Amino acid sequence: MRISTLSVGDELVCGQITDTNAGVIAEALLYQGLRVQRHMSVGDSEPDIIEALLELARNSDAIVVTGGLGPTADDLTARAAARATGRRLVLNDHAKAHVRDMSGRLASLMVCPLNDKQAMIPSKTTLIPNPAGTACGFYLMNNGCFMFFLPGVPSEMIRMLKDSVLPFLAERATRRRSIRMERLNVFGPCEAEVDEMLGGVGRPDQGLFLGICVTFPWMRITLRAEADSDDKAAELLAPAVKIVQERLHEYVFSRGEVTIDEAVAALFIQQGMTLALAESCTGGMIAQRITSISGSSRYFLEGAVTYSNAAKTRQVGVDAALLVEKGAVSSEVGSAMAKGVRRSAGSDLGLAVTGIAGPDGGSDEKPVGTVFISLSAPDGCWTKRFQFSGTRDEIRTITAWTALDWLRRYLLQRAVA
Ligand code: ATP
Ligand code: MG
Repeated sequence: MRISTLSVGDELVCGQITDTNAGVIAEALLYQGLRVQRHMSVGDSEPDIIEALLELARNSDAIVVTGGLGPTADDLTARAAARATGRRLVLNDHAKAHVRDMSGRLASLMVCPLNDKQAMIPSKTTLIPNPAGTACGFYLMNNGCFMFFLPGVPSEMIRMLKDSVLPFLAERATRRRSIRMERLNVFGPCEAEVDEMLGGVGRPDQGLFLGICVTFPWMRITLRAEADSDDKAAELLAPAVKIVQERLHEYVFSRGEVTIDEAVAALFIQQGMTLALAESCTGGMIAQRITSISGSSRYFLEGAVTYSNAAKTRQVGVDAALLVEKGAVSSEVGSAMAKGVRRSAGSDLGLAVTGIAGPDGGSDEKPVGTVFISLSAPDGCWTKRFQFSGTRDEIRTITAWTALDWLRRYLLQRAVA
């Protein structure tokens, strides 16, 4: 089955928002063994929408269109769909009832005022229910091509896609490939290193595809197996996942949608350990990430943003003389911060970061990007010097990630010891 997507909206073609709908649709279809061949975007222009529909229809068995179904004047998709397929735009009673019902229910959420415009749907179409918004979706068949029209709002779109469009297409698709996917999330090495470590794993000729997607500062490895049956796809995938896991080993922090924050949280809970933080250059970023996880109160006791020298002394007991002698960004101060915060909080682990995020403040000896991370634990205290590069924001982000990854590695190694 040849499938295309069409995203409608001026904001998309003007670069104000990114077209995430197209990617989400493509991936959801891929899980059903259906592959999208083409993505297209057009602005809020009726002739452009009509032309795009006609052009895509020439080479597609199905088109999934999103956007432009709302009540405002720039929402032109329903009218364009009618014109492109030689239908009339008519007031649909079911859609009208839905718009009224939803407008009433969502009034407190500041939905646009009741507007029958959203109930004007091309004739000879089938409505696609929208449990979360006012705009009804619809689909029609034109010259052998199924056209699905969904709202642009991602949360509404995805629900309608999963509830209605995917089952519909899956049922009708002939020669569907079975697809199995696995994602491994990696932090540490750069893309070229990962690419080298995973040399030969992907075998497209056999239906095994390997993708590396970099999302600073981590990356996602996607393995996709395509075969004639679910069993064969699973058989193809399992050994490849094992190889990736073995080759990247300690760098893999999670699988699937699990974030590094969640991976760290799970380990803390599993180990029954507690944590306190003393942060300088990250200004609380690590604490923010730790506390973004529900249930973090079970292991996170406190975090201090000890930015000035005075705060390092007053809050976590760093010796003032040490600060003068070694400087705030030093291995000695880092470990004094980690030990100090662990002691004052009474936690199992104390983690500290001190560094120069830039763009000013660097020296020959300690250039911008110099960061010390220290971990104080019942079995010792370790401090490492890192040399990061990038903007201030990038240096702070990678520092927070490195600290979290260190906690993860420590807890993991403790679990196997
Ligand atoms: P509404 O009833 O909200 O007007 P609609 O079907 O008319 O729904 P649009 O007006 O096109 O949808 O889009 C509504 C919002 O949804 C946009 O402002 C944008 O934030 C988001 N959106 C639309 N299309 C996309 C897309 N392709 N990718 C990501 N977000 C999108
Ligand atoms: Mg709109």
